[in-house]
Amino acid sequence: MPQYYIWTIGCQMNKAESQRLGSFFEQRGYLATATVEKADIIVLNSCVVRQSAENRVINKLNALKPLKRFRPSLTLALTGCLVNSDTEQLKKDFPHVDFFFKPGDYPHWLEKAERGQVLPQHPPPSIYVPIIQGCDNFCSYCVVPYRRGRERSRPIAEITGEVRELVHRGAKEVTLLGQNVDSYGHDLPDQADLADLLNELSTIDELVRIRFLTNHPKDMSTKLIETVACLDKVCRQISLPVQSGSNDILKAMRRGYTVEHYRQLIAEIRSKMPKVALSTDVIVGFPSESEEQFRQTFSLLSELRFDIVHVATYSPRAGTIAAKELEDNIPAIEKRRRFDMIEQLQEGIAAEINTQLLGTTVEVLVEGKKDSKWQGRTRSGKLVFFSDNGDYPGKLVNIRIEKTSPWSLQGKIELSGIN
Ligand code: SF4
Repeated sequence: MPQYYIWTIGCQMNKAESQRLGSFFEQRGYLATATVEKADIIVLNSCVVRQSAENRVINKLNALKPLKRFRPSLTLALTGCLVNSDTEQLKKDFPHVDFFFKPGDYPHWLEKAERGQVLPQHPPPSIYVPIIQGCDNFCSYCVVPYRRGRERSRPIAEITGEVRELVHRGAKEVTLLGQNVDSYGHDLPDQADLADLLNELSTIDELVRIRFLTNHPKDMSTKLIETVACLDKVCRQISLPVQSGSNDILKAMRRGYTVEHYRQLIAEIRSKMPKVALSTDVIVGFPSESEEQFRQTFSLLSELRFDIVHVATYSPRAGTIAAKELEDNIPAIEKRRRFDMIEQLQEGIAAEINTQLLGTTVEVLVEGKKDSKWQGRTRSGKLVFFSDNGDYPGKLVNIRIEKTSPWSLQGKIELSGIN
């Protein structure tokens, strides 16, 4: 049997696309292999959001050159954000690659694949479903709109049909994905929105949980917040990247909102869902970010107390407005200091939030086993581990929490609560 190997780097969108591509190969009779040497087809799913990610992709591409030279029949394909409209340049730079295709835009040997045909036969209990591609926002530091193009929403009927099929095949939880998921639907003829989609998906009987990410603060509507608050299947977990606590930096980032607006949004979300779990993203060391502006970010995070903070140091990305117009003038060592300060702050906050769960019982959807322990997530998205000899993948279990850390929880199964 021919074998395929997919290498993926980057966001959940890439992971979801690789999963679909893998299913497609399997339906064609290919077997997955964990080693490039055994593969007949190798697909690299690339990311360029950070320079370090792009470098890793380039290193991987170059590392495959000898293999392709040694075995010319090997098919090598590149997809993901490194593939832009200028494939001619890519062809010159990487002549050993056979195909370049944009995310979701399968090459001719895959093009007959309907989306519905590439769903996994045996999906995991929790699966990603892309609902909107691209981004219209052009934040000054970000390459996504240049690489993934403008926003394109999938029709509600198509997504609902796909989720029904996934649930029929065994999935229990879906995470709806988009670079800017809360702007879903504005480009559809009927202008349906994410709230309408959540309502529709909630009617699918065997589907037990729905999540969505990542949101943009300027698109988070009261209608969406109220819909999440009233639909039982939608998890009370919202990702809302703030990026900076300084209005001047937000303006330079072209984020389209102020700190005051953001704070108000969080207050509205918490007033309608007191137990909501919130996560955010922050960039430190943006061009000209002063100590005072960094402190504003630090104190906003101390004030709002998120469950999770993803922090990144600024790095210029070629072609973006920030790379063209702003000098990357914060020294690397200073960026690192700011990064470490936020990581340390967040570790303390997450530890305190998670400690409150000690002794409580939480509902966990079991996703699989890691290092001989079962692992799954609570409705609020917290990672939980437990040991037991039973067979639990895809089951909802009640776990009594006995140990907490900033990153995960551990506990014991309550056998009466298995569904
Ligand atoms: Fe990039 Fe901004 Fe779009 Fe997010 S919202 S993908 S940061 S341009």
